Amino acid sequence: MSRFLSKQYEKLTPYTPGEQPRERAYIKLNTNESPYPPSPGVVAIKKEQLEDLRLYSDPEAHGLRRALAQQYGVNPENVHVGNGSDEVLNFAFMAYATDGRGAAFADITYGFYPVFAQLNDIPVSIIPLREDFSLCPEDYFSLHQTIVIANPNAPTGLALRLEQVEEILLSNPDSVVIIDEAYVDFGAQSCVPLTKRYDNLLVVQTFSKSRSMAGARLGFAIGHADLIADLERIRFSTNPYNVNRLTLALGETALQEQSYYDENCKRIIATREACKARFHQMGFVFPDSKANFLFVKKEGANGKLLYEELKRKGVLVRHFEAPRLSDYNRITIGTPQQMEVLFQCLEEIL
Ligand code: PMP
Repeated sequence: MSRFLSKQYEKLTPYTPGEQPRERAYIKLNTNESPYPPSPGVVAIKKEQLEDLRLYSDPEAHGLRRALAQQYGVNPENVHVGNGSDEVLNFAFMAYATDGRGAAFADITYGFYPVFAQLNDIPVSIIPLREDFSLCPEDYFSLHQTIVIANPNAPTGLALRLEQVEEILLSNPDSVVIIDEAYVDFGAQSCVPLTKRYDNLLVVQTFSKSRSMAGARLGFAIGHADLIADLERIRFSTNPYNVNRLTLALGETALQEQSYYDENCKRIIATREACKARFHQMGFVFPDSKANFLFVKKEGANGKLLYEELKRKGVLVRHFEAPRLSDYNRITIGTPQQMEVLFQCLEEIL
């Protein structure tokens, strides 16, 4: 920290991303990326597209917003695009929680929410999940704060049903409810249809997981046109060219090839369910994940040691050093072959 840093950032604890090691090749099951490459059209990027990089990207992202609107059955004015959903989420925290209203989210959820709150000087209410990591909708009734829920949640993978989200929306008509659907394509119910009936609902999604484009950085939000206008106001006050030209184009191409991604999701879901059975046989316990990861622990095994032993054997998983979490490891669902290696390593270790 330099002596010049503004006081307000001195106490900021930045988010710690999962390891992206370069020293050796790992089977990488630690950051919930897709094990499959992007679709054929995305991979076949053209020289002309690269040459066009001399031009700024479309600040209105017309093409991509139109394509997303079509895919999700809304209008382009209901769609905002961002440089990864992390940026979209930060804009939403800025837009809906900075005037003293504050934000409410679970004690165990995506680790970036408390960072966005701290960054923007937002007071928070931390709402504990139940013992079994389930989220109780009643805990979120009439809060008068901006509510942020990852659905499915991370790192547990547990998902709320649409009716449960609807109860939260109905009891909070004067607060924005942000539903972070980063993992929704792996088997949970999307709240996008509810955006037509609730003007306080903002649904945030990403191309990083089910669409294999984590490195392209593309996220989006769907909601009432007025909510989207708020996010656009912040975007145009920060970086109107937030999504680069290539990513805008590749995002559109990806949407034209949605069936490829649907197939990948089916494969990942099948692998996940097979892994659940295998973990179960080995005596692991885990919440019933609807995401592309499993959050597992084994009675008597030390979570941190297991992570370290796996890493030594070349398999990288995610361990969180935090109360209620340190016995567990979050393991991304890879290809069946990668998971086979994981299970072989686990059997050797245990
Ligand atoms: N929300 C959740 C719940 C996540 O786990 C992640 C990925 N770390 C994100 C949002 C952000 O993803 P991205 O910025 O790559 O879209």
